[in-house]
Amino acid sequence: MSAIKVNARDGGTLSLSREELASLQSRIRGEIITTGNGSYEAARKVWNGLIDRKPGVIVRCREAADVAAAVTFAGERGIAVSARGGGHNVAGACLVENGYTIDLSYMRAVRVDPENRVAVAEGGARLGDLDRATQAFGLAAPVGVVSATGVAGLTLHGGVGWLLRNHGLSIDNLLSAEIVTADGRLRRADANENADLFWALRGGGGSFGVVTAFEFKVHPVGPDVWLSAPIYPLERAGEVMAAFRDYLESAPDELMGLGVYWSAPEAPQVPKHLHGVPVVILLGCYTGPFEKGEKVLEPLRRIGTPIADLGGPMRFVDVQTFLDADYPDGKFYYWKSIYLDRLDAEAIRVLSDHTAARPSPLSSIDVWTLGRAMSRVESTATAFFRRDAPYMIGIEANWERREDAEANIQWARAVFEDLKKFSNGGNYLNFPGFFEEPERLLTGSFGENLKRLKSIKARHDPKNLFLGAINIPPGPSAALQDRPAREARPSTGMEAP
Ligand SMILES: Cc1cc2nc3c(=O)[nH]c(=O)nc-3n(C[C@H](O)[C@H](O)[C@H](O)COP(=O)(O)OP(=O)(O)OC[C@H]3O[C@@H](n4cnc5c(N)ncnc54)[C@H](O)[C@@H]3O)c2cc1C
Repeated sequence: MSAIKVNARDGGTLSLSREELASLQSRIRGEIITTGNGSYEAARKVWNGLIDRKPGVIVRCREAADVAAAVTFAGERGIAVSARGGGHNVAGACLVENGYTIDLSYMRAVRVDPENRVAVAEGGARLGDLDRATQAFGLAAPVGVVSATGVAGLTLHGGVGWLLRNHGLSIDNLLSAEIVTADGRLRRADANENADLFWALRGGGGSFGVVTAFEFKVHPVGPDVWLSAPIYPLERAGEVMAAFRDYLESAPDELMGLGVYWSAPEAPQVPKHLHGVPVVILLGCYTGPFEKGEKVLEPLRRIGTPIADLGGPMRFVDVQTFLDADYPDGKFYYWKSIYLDRLDAEAIRVLSDHTAARPSPLSSIDVWTLGRAMSRVESTATAFFRRDAPYMIGIEANWERREDAEANIQWARAVFEDLKKFSNGGNYLNFPGFFEEPERLLTGSFGENLKRLKSIKARHDPKNLFLGAINIPPGPSAALQDRPAREARPSTGMEAP
């Protein structure tokens, strides 16, 4: 192994000798993966096939002590650090060209304490790991809706899913985190200990350290729940989406709604001649008393006659994997988001028009109904600021051939532009595009919380060791205070998709 080049946190480049890496290897149970290594090609792959970055060093950790050693090694040399949880960030933020990645993909254990309704997930756990372990006791942590997604990235930037309206964001259920900070120490952050750090981790992302464990409050759910998935033709979207909006406004908190502008799936319930036509699918998951579910979902399933209905009673673990097959590893993806403060007839029409104009039938536009438990938390109580918006639109460009990237990315950007007039601003950082316009993303997403985030960053990571998916630069007391976010981190290759 010859010397390896990695990015320094000041924007320059550092050279790591074979001896230095061997000394790190001798201190960890996991492994160091570099270009010469047989597992390098697999280790530098993320979920999004569009991302093709070559990190200098990947430190694949097996335990918190490995993470501490890897952070200490980076801190002593001034190396910029990125962290990998489930590798599902659409911008591939866990990997940086010539970067130094602390990879937690071996660290997926989940421990459940059913008596106290608590679950602890290691920093590399996937949602499926958490769901399986908690559902064994009839419990669930509020996370997202596709099981391969990483708990870490999802939680650190908020976390929306089927339990959002009754139990809030994932971060609203976080009791504590174990985190390795820039000084290489493993700390606990909760409401009493390192409370500032705990506040920042709840929405502020990965700029504060590497989280080795997340402790969640879990809730009785299922094991059987109800899912609605009626499919309506796109031509009826005006009437269907208005009914969806109106019903969700008065429906119980236990019903979460996700209206998806998409294509009719090739399911046996869908007539063959309708496979692939543009449609609206009203996904609704009811996690209240099982016997009430059918009645609660009825208004979504009977807006006239749907083309087909893929829903019904099912196990909550199956709801959590219902969409999995639609998001295979290695396909091409570009996802953005925007909060809407209204979903009026005009907004519904804009969504329908853009659905009809998709360059790829795999692409969707998702209408997430927010509010309820999420909005009952003060916007300054955690770093996650935008709790007031009633809707979040996920714009998902999904396609199969690399050469179609330009058309699909342009489509998603055009949807985003046309939705701005229905929005008070702000974007959900888990659907961030390629983090274009980082200053706007930071101010729009964090509002008045940004100042506090920067000062917590200055306290815990004054030299800006941790890049985060979007970097929060240290605040007033630190050297990088006046530099814009993009300059505060070495190039990631995200700037030019
Ligand atoms: C198919 C799919 C479905 C999705 N569904 C949902 C959904 O239902 N709800 C929702 O809210 N979001 C959803 N998302 C978005 C998802 O939350 C983000 O992509 C998130 O970044 C994934 O987390 P990860 O750990 O896999 O990310 P990674 O790519 O591994 O990491 C992303 C960033 O998170 C930070 N990070 C990761 N691990 C750590 C750690 N241990 N310590 C500190 N920082 C860390 C780093 O800054 C890193 O750059 C979905 C994404 C996909 C691809």
